[in-house]
Amino acid sequence: MTPYKLLLLPGDGIGPEVMAEVAQIIGWVNDRGLASIETETDLVGGCAYDAHGEAISDLTMAKALQADAVMLGAVGGPKWDGVAYDQRPEAGLLRLRKDLQLFANLRPAICYPALADASSLKRDRVDGLDIMIVRELTGGVYFGEPKEITDLGHGQKRAVDTQVYETYEIERIAAVAFELARKRRNLVHSADKRNVMKTGVLWHEVVTRLHKERYADVTLQHILADNCAMQLMRQPKQFDVIVTDNLFGDMLSDEAAMATGSLGMLPSASLGAADATGRRRALYEPVHGSAPDIAGLGIANPIATIASFAMCLRYSFELGDTADRIEAAIASVLDQGYRTADIMQEGCQKLGTDAMGEAIVTALDRPAA
Ligand code: NAD
Repeated sequence: MTPYKLLLLPGDGIGPEVMAEVAQIIGWVNDRGLASIETETDLVGGCAYDAHGEAISDLTMAKALQADAVMLGAVGGPKWDGVAYDQRPEAGLLRLRKDLQLFANLRPAICYPALADASSLKRDRVDGLDIMIVRELTGGVYFGEPKEITDLGHGQKRAVDTQVYETYEIERIAAVAFELARKRRNLVHSADKRNVMKTGVLWHEVVTRLHKERYADVTLQHILADNCAMQLMRQPKQFDVIVTDNLFGDMLSDEAAMATGSLGMLPSASLGAADATGRRRALYEPVHGSAPDIAGLGIANPIATIASFAMCLRYSFELGDTADRIEAAIASVLDQGYRTADIMQEGCQKLGTDAMGEAIVTALDRPAA
């Protein structure tokens, strides 16, 4: 069995607490002979700054580049508020994304039936919801130049951000979306603002051409990004995969997240380009942050991080069946009425971080109903 190398970067705040539960699941996968996953643990974020004076060291970065995948907990916290901008905890995460060239951010919005009442939408709109938002992560208005504030004098300033996309950036993110759709319900919505933005016109043109040339078997629908935001609230189950740029993806993925109930439930994956062997660099992390308000209390919800590990098994280790099993174990634990504090509902049993992790491991060995 080829061993997979997985670098664990628990980070700050609740990061180490939720990552400890992933370590239990990795132990289960190895013990059952489903895979051979070798892990190494290192520092990122505020803890790395405390140890080395920088949010990620060159040595850790080299390990990340050599690993088959990286799992991150969370970074940041008030302790590092006064740290210089370039050394702040988030700089470690940004360097990982940049040096691993992670251009595709995958954010599933899945609503477990047991949690449908915790959604801000009505149960019938979200029960069984399963959307994948594919956000372009390394281009667009967050990175385009010029990006500046100019003092015009007389108390006036001018701020400029530049929205810029080139053909290859649109092609590669759209290809990720089409390929994902083929493994799902075969439907892609491409969201842009071609009615008012030149980048939207190019986005539309490139996605349409790529679809025609290589992915004609997938159903493609173009949608204006503002309408997409509205439709996500109105009838979210009409979507399968949504592909969009960095800015719209930032907004639409947070909006879709609200349909699922809690921040503690949301996994994510960031993928880079495939090399000659088809291997993609990849970083898996929960959507939530380091939650300093509850760090050290043992009450953090580990499900987002465990579900991120399931994504790692599916997209980096070709272990889709084991990923399905982990997701089914999460659903089963929720069905049994186990909840962490953030998703607590009347009549359910409240568990701490460790107990929730244990319940999921126990459910993994239970035959499916
Ligand atoms: P946050 O996600 O850390 O917390 C928001 C709220 O959700 C808090 O009340 C928190 O207790 C709760 N929460 C989050 N995750 C939870 C979980 N797993 N279980 C139970 N409750 C959970 O966001 P924030 O408070 O805006 O930021 C705190 C710190 O995290 C900041 O330093 C911020 O920069 C950093 N941050 C890091 C990342 C990252 O590492 N990717 C992402 C977002 C924020």
